[in-house]
Amino acid sequence: MADNDIIYFEIFPWNKNFETGIDIIDEQHKQLVKILNRLAAHLANLSEAVVLNELFDELAAYADYHFKTEEKIWSAHFKEDEWFSDHEETHESFIDKVVALKENKSHKSLDDVIYDIVSFLSQWLAYHILDSDKRMAKAVIALQSGSSLQDAKSQANDEMSGSMKILIQTVLSMYDSLSTRTLDLMREKTLRKQAETALHHSEERWKFILEGGGENIWDWDIEHDKLLFADNNIPVLDFVTNHLADNIDESSIHKADRERVEADFQAHLEGKTEFFTNKYRVLRKNGGWSWVLSRGKVVSRDEYGKALRMVGTHSDITERELASLIYQNSSQAMLISDIHNNIISVNPAFTKITGYTEDEAMGKNPKFLTSGQYDSSYYKQMWESINRTGYWSGEIYNKRKNGEIFPENLSINTVVNVFGSVDHYVGLFTDISEKKKADELILEHANVDPLTKLHNRRMFQDRLEEEIKRSKRSNSSFALLYIDLDHFKEVNDSLGHEAGDALLVEVTQRIKYQVRESDIISRLGGDEFSIIFTDLNDSLRVDRITQDIIEALRKPFQLDVDQVYVSASVGITLFPNDANDASTLLKNADQAMYLAKKSGRSCYRYFTPSMQEAAEKRQILINDLHGALSLGQFQVYYQPIINLNTGQITKAEALIRWNHPQRGLVSPDYFIPLAEESGLIIEIGDWVFKEAMRQTSHWKQKYNIEFQTSVNKSPVQFRSARKLDEWIEYLDELGLSTKNGVIEITESILIEDESRITDKLLQLRNLGMEVSLDDFGTGYSSLSYLKKFDIDYLKIDKSFVSSLEEGSQDMALCEAMIVMAHKLGIRVIAEGIETEVQKSLLSAMGCDYGQGYLFSRPVPAADFERLLDK
Ligand code: C2E
Ligand code: CA
Ligand code: CA
Repeated sequence: MADNDIIYFEIFPWNKNFETGIDIIDEQHKQLVKILNRLAAHLANLSEAVVLNELFDELAAYADYHFKTEEKIWSAHFKEDEWFSDHEETHESFIDKVVALKENKSHKSLDDVIYDIVSFLSQWLAYHILDSDKRMAKAVIALQSGSSLQDAKSQANDEMSGSMKILIQTVLSMYDSLSTRTLDLMREKTLRKQAETALHHSEERWKFILEGGGENIWDWDIEHDKLLFADNNIPVLDFVTNHLADNIDESSIHKADRERVEADFQAHLEGKTEFFTNKYRVLRKNGGWSWVLSRGKVVSRDEYGKALRMVGTHSDITERELASLIYQNSSQAMLISDIHNNIISVNPAFTKITGYTEDEAMGKNPKFLTSGQYDSSYYKQMWESINRTGYWSGEIYNKRKNGEIFPENLSINTVVNVFGSVDHYVGLFTDISEKKKADELILEHANVDPLTKLHNRRMFQDRLEEEIKRSKRSNSSFALLYIDLDHFKEVNDSLGHEAGDALLVEVTQRIKYQVRESDIISRLGGDEFSIIFTDLNDSLRVDRITQDIIEALRKPFQLDVDQVYVSASVGITLFPNDANDASTLLKNADQAMYLAKKSGRSCYRYFTPSMQEAAEKRQILINDLHGALSLGQFQVYYQPIINLNTGQITKAEALIRWNHPQRGLVSPDYFIPLAEESGLIIEIGDWVFKEAMRQTSHWKQKYNIEFQTSVNKSPVQFRSARKLDEWIEYLDELGLSTKNGVIEITESILIEDESRITDKLLQLRNLGMEVSLDDFGTGYSSLSYLKKFDIDYLKIDKSFVSSLEEGSQDMALCEAMIVMAHKLGIRVIAEGIETEVQKSLLSAMGCDYGQGYLFSRPVPAADFERLLDK
């Protein structure tokens, strides 16, 4: 083989799309593609007939073997079916065609043979592998999962419809232009080399090479105006005879090309050029135009330089020209770059899409088009794929000359040289921004309600399914609300549709205002809306927000000059409590909504009776809570805090109790959240503080001790605008110092990034009031917060204390908390001490204070005094 021969010329890069899903078939297809590429390489190299024959034989033999294997698979599944017989036929025709191509080869021009083969094989690859084989493989897969033959076939047809057809078309057109274009590059390289060599050889040698190359040769004795040799009857002879005849009008050369060809030819005869090369169109006998490539050289001249003899070749390059025309006129942008990835050619579509002219693009690395949206790892991956498989394709954003960023569908192919290394890269892309815009618009129309811009019913279904999946994964729950407006029909009927529409838009606004960004609102149709409350952790939130929505919709709507009133009936169902699939949830919510309508409208109902009961109970309690303070139903209990070193009671925690006239003692765990939701906690909290401080000052006087009482303060109180001044003044009035009170807070407020809260905490510090961090270990337990907020006490949560045992994990945790706190200068209180063992373990670990049933339950002030008396 010569230096610049190509061993592997990848006209057909393996593409993932070829894969059928049946491994053995894919393996064989890959083998086949490999042989085709080798064949292509030899064709481009103008390899000797023997080599080519061997390859053709190999191809035929392999195809035979492969088809038999494949047919075995198909016949096992399709038996007598026509899909099988049709398929068998195409296999036979393939072998016939290969045999015919091989025979043709000897009496056709090489270019013709190459293009016959390229076009036949690309068609075969696309239609046969991409369509027929894949279709059958899909059916086989369906058959294997138990479908009937008929079902499997129609399923396969379904899967193959539409997108597959487009894919095949794309691949075909890409291959048509790509393979001919790359083939051109290779062929030209080989020919150029030959021509150069030829210049240095004798006439005989020159002729021999031409004959060897199988091109159509002419040998013109200019001196005697005689064609010495011409082995073909195609139109290039017309060109020579035209010239001889000196009758331009009768020339079959295309008018547009004639003058140029004549001038070049004349220049060469006169010795002004070393070589004559020209491409032009000639009229065929059948009336069509063909592109002809003519090359020639004067091989002898007389002493005055007059040309005596000229030899040359011609070939019909119509198909190649067409390919080049495609390159020039394709709407697909194409660029070819060299081994260093510097651009050596671009087509007009490239200029049209990117805005860069050929001159501007020439010699540049295609990365000058980058949009800057991808990091280097993205391109690294792309190039890894190109280096490994010779191919990459995907959607990518690039930048036009005018700065505009646009999406394109890009594929990059590699052309490999004789050493197996890269010779060229070929990039093909289309601008898909219009298509994308259209897709988005379609998507939007399909999923969005045009009036309110909320999700429509279809999108709602999707989102609901999604939320179910998500919640299952994360083990969380959500609420589904079904909202139906009351009296909407009346508005619509009396004021008209436009007013109705305006009302719906305003309703949407009001609903949106009440919910979080992450909640999903949809308009299911007419006057029906739905909301999915995601990540639900208390049903209280649902109650409150639903109530707020109902209140908001109850307020009058101003429609132009009319003021109208509507209201809403809401049904609520919970996932996973009530159901765990979309359709049942919807049905539940709908039923609950009807219940709300039946109960007199403008209210909400839960789907499950127990949920409904609980909601009603909460509502009643909230109502009762409103009056509790003025009716004197609250009482403060005190639980002693013991100094573990001395065994003395030096502190107490104030804990509120509610004596409900009907329910008896209600636990703060239950009513504090209600008080927080309704905002009543602010009043209640003030009362507890004052009550506890009043009691403290009494004990301070009575027992003459520096007593300290801690009061729990809810995050809601911190968020309120209420000032601390009042509390401090009250301490003054009582003759107490700020050291007599401690504020207990929970970690949740430390992580809130609200300056209002943090300011208040710091203000407390500055006033000299101590702060205790409650329930430590159950939340974020971050060291940095402890430092940042200068906490005085840390209360180890009772869940750690309850399971304290020598050598247990909780033992290690408690010890770690104590050591860590002490390092920061924070004292430690252990909560929930119920046994002597717990007490002594904690005490041994260096814990400062203890609180728990072991010492005393929380008790009324009078009982507490008895503890102090001891
Ligand atoms: P907390 O602040 O963690 O209060 C300690 C709770 O642990 C009290 O429950 C107390 O009775 C209980 N406890 C004490 N020793 C032991 C023990 O040895 N074993 C067990 N199992 N439990 C023990 P209580 O009084 O029911 O209060 C519950 C929660 O209600 C409090 O938890 C606090 O978060 C809240 N709370 C109570 N009073 C108020 C108040 O005035 N304002 C605010 N914002 N919240 C309050
Ligand atoms: Ca507490
Ligand atoms: Ca606690």
